[in-house]
Amino acid sequence: MAELNVAASSSLPVKEKALQLLRAGPLPKLIVLDLDYTLWQAYVDSTSGPPFVYHKQEQAVLDKRKWEIEAFEHTRPLLQALMEANTQVAFASRTEEPAWANEVISIFEIDEQGRCLSDYAQAWEIYPTSKEKHFHALARKLNVNFSEMLFFDDEKRNIHEVSQLGVISVHCKDGISLSTFEEGLLEFRCGNSIEHCLVEFVMYYFSWYLSNYVHICHQVPFDC
Ligand SMILES: [Mg+2]
Repeated sequence: MAELNVAASSSLPVKEKALQLLRAGPLPKLIVLDLDYTLWQAYVDSTSGPPFVYHKQEQAVLDKRKWEIEAFEHTRPLLQALMEANTQVAFASRTEEPAWANEVISIFEIDEQGRCLSDYAQAWEIYPTSKEKHFHALARKLNVNFSEMLFFDDEKRNIHEVSQLGVISVHCKDGISLSTFEEGLLEFRCGNSIEHCLVEFVMYYFSWYLSNYVHICHQVPFDC
């Protein structure tokens, strides 16, 4: 789906752009995020394991052999925006090492106050099973319907499986980013409100028209 230029093209920091997007329309009651290669750049069960330590200067978690588990560039600002917008977050991971993933989310710092990934989520389901089971558990635990959720994952098989439940699911093959976040919100809003969808499309084409008009004006040797 096309990226909305309204927020993504401005020079604001990622967190502020994300807040703009969040405030622009109806929100999901719950945003569910995968962990490995969606929030951080590693398969936690393929690391050398605990003890895990958070390294403040590197802003990464180090495993037993001091290999780094780094967050994707937009992970922190997007989570901070979600917290500021009071949007519920949950994690769903099918890792083979749930205890390791639990340890990593409890020490992975997300902000300057030292709050960690686990402080940014209301619930998490971390164990090797199908994501379908994770979602049924999250729906029960947080009393949220599938149609009120939005899901991000780097693996297509999970996107396919969770979509079958009626959850708007967004594939982010290079980790979560502002553009996939924007794509997800737009898709969620389109799926939940025809009027809002029409407004989003009108805004998109208006913004596209304006940017092209300005581009053409810069190229012709007379005033437009
Ligand atoms: Mg993953």
